[in-house]
Amino acid sequence: MGRRKHEDGSNDVAAVPVSERVVSADGANGIGGPSGEEDAALRPRSFAEFVGQRKVVDNLGVYVAAARKRKGALDHVLLAGPPGLGKTTLAYLLAHEMGTQVHITSGPALERKGDLAGILTALGRGDILFIDEIHRLQAVVEESLYPAMEDYRIELVTGSGGVGARAIPINIERFTLVGATTRTGQLTSPLLNRFGIVEQFSFYSPAELTTIVRRSARLLGITVDDDGAEEIGRRARGTPRVANRLLRRVRDFAEVRGDGHISRDAACYGLDRLEVDPLGLDAGDRRILRTIVERFDGGPVGIESMAASLAEDRDTIEYVYEPYLIQEGFLIRTPRGRQVTRRAYEHLGLPPPVVVPPVGQTNLF
Ligand code: ADP
Repeated sequence: MGRRKHEDGSNDVAAVPVSERVVSADGANGIGGPSGEEDAALRPRSFAEFVGQRKVVDNLGVYVAAARKRKGALDHVLLAGPPGLGKTTLAYLLAHEMGTQVHITSGPALERKGDLAGILTALGRGDILFIDEIHRLQAVVEESLYPAMEDYRIELVTGSGGVGARAIPINIERFTLVGATTRTGQLTSPLLNRFGIVEQFSFYSPAELTTIVRRSARLLGITVDDDGAEEIGRRARGTPRVANRLLRRVRDFAEVRGDGHISRDAACYGLDRLEVDPLGLDAGDRRILRTIVERFDGGPVGIESMAASLAEDRDTIEYVYEPYLIQEGFLIRTPRGRQVTRRAYEHLGLPPPVVVPPVGQTNLF
């Protein structure tokens, strides 16, 4: 069904020591791991505090108001987009706005049907079940989710599942499933079709990220100039989680070098030390662009060849690095593979290739 499985159950980003990559947007989404607690402390508590994603927030605001008016549960919601953009945060906010509880889990954590059944039977009326990385659900677990989403019913199998085993239908409370995915394309259509609401997140503007940096600084007791916040916001890869991480690391440099105050100079110093360049690309991003230029003549190159050459996980390249490189115009996807743009050559300080016109044709440029 076009679904890519990880037979060893490994994490998609296991090949990258994500915790060491300060600009990586990946990491725990409040489900444990080092960034889980950090994220939780800075998570907006209301729609009003949630910066940006206006279209998504406005749409969801309408659906929440309508569901409340009907005194019903919110329809199932799929939130799609790169990591660190606020999908988990929004699930918490939906629960807050609906006045219900949120239960957090993830695709890889639900190994057996029984894991899911245990969670579903414990849900209260109108509760939100948040499944992060929902594209990574095991097929059997996913199939048992269908009747739960549609008819609020699950089947418990008695016995060991062999001869004499019986499936007993059990009704569960009307709940709202909020699924999050970085890869809508890897969702099976039966699952995708069962979401009444699908919202796509986009990268944040530098101005929105500057607002987020200022808010986080206030919550963390960090003093930051407007200029300093702007510098961090501009280099945060369009991603709030990255902005918050950069803020913390820049503060470390500012404390060790000075009084901890983040001026534009202090921000630039810290960001340079972190190898985050003026356009927000980190060493990993530049390595990808440089590899395509130096080993593949600028492309087009297939994703598998790239992954092998970089000794990097294919999914990490495709879903963590590439979306931002594409949005910023450093990379394009063509039917024959990835190709760097003129902007990438300029940014790397490399001479762009000379285009030789076909014989008999004058090069107008
Ligand atoms: P995702 O689930 O998409 O990976 P999260 O919801 O975990 O992302 O967001 C990561 C962190 O970024 C949050 O803890 C929060 O601090 C911050 N954040 C995300 N979106 C926003 C936003 N719109 N406004 C302010 N902070 C945000």
